[in-house]
Amino acid sequence: MQLYNTLSKKVEPFVSLSETIDPQDKQVKMYACGPTVYDYTHIGHLRKYVMDDVLVRVLRHAGYDVKHVQNITDVGHLVSDDDEGEDKMEKGARKYGKTAWEVARTFEDYFWYSLDKMGVLRPTLSCRATEHIQSQLEMVLALEKQGFTYVIPDDGVYFDTAKLERYGELSGHDPRQAHRESRVGEITGKRNPSDFALWKFERAGENRQMVWPSPWHPRSFPGWHIECSAMSVEHLGEQLDIHTGGVDHIAVHHANEIAQSETATHKRPFAKFWVHHNFLRVDGEKMSKSLNNFYTIDDILKKGYQPAALRLLFLGSHYRSEQNFTFASLDAASTAWQKLAMMCVQLRHDRGEDDVLAESEQQNTVALAAQFEHDFFEAVENDLDTPTALAILWKMLKSDIASRQKYRLLLEFDRTLGLGLAGLQEADIAAFAPANQELDLLDLPKFLQDLFAAREAARARKDFATADQIRAQFQEAGYELIDRADGVVVQKKQ
Ligand code: AMP
Ligand code: ZN
Repeated sequence: MQLYNTLSKKVEPFVSLSETIDPQDKQVKMYACGPTVYDYTHIGHLRKYVMDDVLVRVLRHAGYDVKHVQNITDVGHLVSDDDEGEDKMEKGARKYGKTAWEVARTFEDYFWYSLDKMGVLRPTLSCRATEHIQSQLEMVLALEKQGFTYVIPDDGVYFDTAKLERYGELSGHDPRQAHRESRVGEITGKRNPSDFALWKFERAGENRQMVWPSPWHPRSFPGWHIECSAMSVEHLGEQLDIHTGGVDHIAVHHANEIAQSETATHKRPFAKFWVHHNFLRVDGEKMSKSLNNFYTIDDILKKGYQPAALRLLFLGSHYRSEQNFTFASLDAASTAWQKLAMMCVQLRHDRGEDDVLAESEQQNTVALAAQFEHDFFEAVENDLDTPTALAILWKMLKSDIASRQKYRLLLEFDRTLGLGLAGLQEADIAAFAPANQELDLLDLPKFLQDLFAAREAARARKDFATADQIRAQFQEAGYELIDRADGVVVQKKQ
């Protein structure tokens, strides 16, 4: 298994921390930055969590016992990355006329709903920042004790980045320099432009909804970065194998997580592998809540697309490349998904027929199937090369290996891709068909075409019992057979 590591800027062989001690001990501790739950989850987020999901599935297939922890940011993420401005939760509260607490739960629910639709496996553990106030406070106190912090009165407790030799190594440049060049309106009292808030104080007259007492201020709250450092230590220990997030987190959020964690625990590196996902764009712009150019999973469903089609679209581009979302590309993915689903159902139907294959044919088929299997997993284990893996999947389906082998491989590949093929019902195929219109037989799965022909034959010999039985089979598969004077018509069941 190989993964690109933002820390080294190289694709590296993946060896987990436990394996370096005992090669048989294949554990992975993975921490994924979760959503800030102040507004609807959009499909840009979904691309990130689908690819995290693929990573977990690939690691599990490779034999790792993966503990996947993902946080829910429900406090402390300010509108600006520079510790200024409103808390996003309070902003959401104003926008939706709810309390900050209601907003947090509403959009956390929507996040899970969206992920479930996309077939994303739930993390081993999900943790909310507001339920880990004590551990965050303790980490800030530990940093304070070591002399890495200072207090700006009426503002907050800050981390002094000048005290760290290696601050900012993740982004490969000195962010202190970048900050110096770009920043204008600094927070008065910051010693260095890149210093960041560990704990913030309520401003006079602010009347925040989410506040806690701390040694520095009676009404205060954690900064955004501290939650990930504190919760990852609490749930995974002082060092992680993999930490994931979007590329937007590299320069500030993750640089700050590293500063906090490595200072507090005296362990380096905080995370062995840093995996960063690139953006989903729409019309060339980053899809984001703040730009209001986003689609939710419900927008996609309302337009008649299936979530698996969107997932297939995501898998078609590499997670480290930007992807530009267009409905034309979703249409193409949808057509591919329908074809794949149809083939899957057909193969499930056909696989018994392989018994009649000659022994020599079977041997060829087994060798070729083994090659496809090898190539597929080589691709996904090569820094999650899902576009290549998909190409191998299609090649396998077009090959002349036995249906039984195809079906077996398809389901095995899908345990990594997560399109939900194993649970696909014959009736699910009917969902692709347009309602209230006569359907072309050729657009139905082949086993239904065969059944249709069998029914015609039964009717011709006046075997109405068989004809009725086949009608019932069509109904089960989601279709209606309508007997008309000029022949039988197939429609999608109402
Ligand atoms: P947020 O809720 O903004 O903290 O984002 C949660 C995660 O989704 C972060 O890892 C972001 O980097 C990622 N993310 C946000 N917008 C996009 C996008 N348009 N495409 C891909 N990932 C995104
Ligand atoms: Zn984080």
